[in-house]
Amino acid sequence: MTNFATALLTGQTEQHLCSAVEAELLGARVHREVVRPFLQLKDEARSSGFDLQILSGFRSFEQQLSIWNRKATGKLAVLDSNAVPLEIERLSERELVFAILRWSALPGASRHHWGTDLDVYDLAARPEGYEVELIPEEVDAGGMFCPLHEWLDGRIAADAAFGFFRPYERDRQGVAPERWHLSYAPAAAAYERGLTTELLRETIQKADIELKEVVLQNLDEIYERFVTNISRPFA
Ligand SMILES: [Zn+2]
Repeated sequence: MTNFATALLTGQTEQHLCSAVEAELLGARVHREVVRPFLQLKDEARSSGFDLQILSGFRSFEQQLSIWNRKATGKLAVLDSNAVPLEIERLSERELVFAILRWSALPGASRHHWGTDLDVYDLAARPEGYEVELIPEEVDAGGMFCPLHEWLDGRIAADAAFGFFRPYERDRQGVAPERWHLSYAPAAAAYERGLTTELLRETIQKADIELKEVVLQNLDEIYERFVTNISRPFA
């Protein structure tokens, strides 16, 4: 694998991303191949009364590392499956690693590194001054963004979502269900194959990451439960 390929897979380059002008238009940086299909999806959403917006697109290794290290050291809340903060001092290091992984990817293993994956919401349904959190109560039945997601479900089921699907559609005992997280399958599929445990191990070994030894000891399980364990389109 080339250096560029390993850097792309693990969030350590930005060369695959769209232009600054496109990022301005979308409100986020994404993979350059995602711009057109996202704008098509956004257009269709607009016709149905939704203002589809990206809250978070590309995220670098350094950004993911910062989230991880702050959660590992108690500077950022670690949430349980119901999005309730945990008392991390009561957890073993292994329990803490798996608790963080429920809502936050291991640095190097986030699909946001690829720029193919996006967290979305409906600006038209967001109350004035409300800060979007990306939590289940926003997207579940009765939530402000539920209608958008029901519409998206329909598009995805009809294979009319321009290549987007939901990798975290249901609870697979790995990453929590994240209805807001969309992935552009045509570009992401190759990256899924490229991100091996070996590459992840090398990346973690080189990183200044909290809980490094516990992560390395449990890496095969982490890889199976949180990296490859996704809902796949048409499966
Ligand atoms: Zn996401």
